[in-house]
Amino acid sequence: MTGIKVTHKRGKNMESAVYKLKRIVRMLRLIASGGVVANIELNPGAEWIDDWFVLEKINDQTFIISEPRYYLKNNSYLILGDSQAILFDVGSGKRNIAPVVRSLTCLPLTVIISHSHSDHLGSIDEFEGCAIADLPINRKHTRDGIFTPSFIIYSNICRRPRIRVQRWLKINELLDLGNRYLRVIHVPGHSADSIALLDQTNGMLFGGDFLYHGNLIATVGGDLFDYLTSVRSLLEWTEGNELIFPAHYATRLPADLLLDVEAALVKIIEGRVEGRRYVFSRKYSVNEQVGLITSKRLIRSAARKLYQAGTEPEEELALDKIQH
Ligand SMILES: [Zn+2]
Repeated sequence: MTGIKVTHKRGKNMESAVYKLKRIVRMLRLIASGGVVANIELNPGAEWIDDWFVLEKINDQTFIISEPRYYLKNNSYLILGDSQAILFDVGSGKRNIAPVVRSLTCLPLTVIISHSHSDHLGSIDEFEGCAIADLPINRKHTRDGIFTPSFIIYSNICRRPRIRVQRWLKINELLDLGNRYLRVIHVPGHSADSIALLDQTNGMLFGGDFLYHGNLIATVGGDLFDYLTSVRSLLEWTEGNELIFPAHYATRLPADLLLDVEAALVKIIEGRVEGRRYVFSRKYSVNEQVGLITSKRLIRSAARKLYQAGTEPEEELALDKIQH
């Protein structure tokens, strides 16, 4: 029996060593390529604008400008009304997104960022400024009308952009683009400054990094309890038949994803599921396409807040029973 166990363990160790080696090789290839990915398959209807950007039309007034060669596969959104245009995120910055945007609309343009992580601010210097969510954390990093994201929420150590604040966006404000309205919703969790835009009439939720197919991240600068609160807030704002348009990877996701994320967060915070080690954090499964990376520290903190908030009285959440 012992022999069998040892062989099995050795097999498992070998498997994990091969997996680790493959990951290292993949990482080295990515670094060597400067984060550029080859072999791209486009969605039906999507077409290359040049050799970097891809354009996908959601309808006559809504465009996805994606960067499928970038390893994070960014999606920025150009949202038009009759009199105003919004650009939601400005791309990775590997290429300048501004000429693409200007080729698609001559309406007055306002840039809005989903949050101030570096992969969403790439081409920010190519625009005259930005409308920034009116949150204490953003006010804290603004002096004389210039918003400078902190190093904590801005991971690019080479350069900190100085962004002119064109206007402050009130949370829950309804932006009027001319016969088209977008609701600004605060969705902290991935980062404290994350916002989503909701077009209720057309059933479109532009979710930034809060929702996508891939590994959602709530680590440094994130908060798992906020993530849960934000998902619940989005569930209240939405009807359930919307399409979610995320900032990375696949471009159209069903609104059911909100329910899956909510269910997973509750289980994670209550300690009912085991994650597996993932770099310096732990990775949990949300569904087949989505994972969540977080830390034990954030789980403990969320459990404490959930218990104090008493949001789940029927669950009889007992802190001493939560094992992380
Ligand atoms: Zn991102």
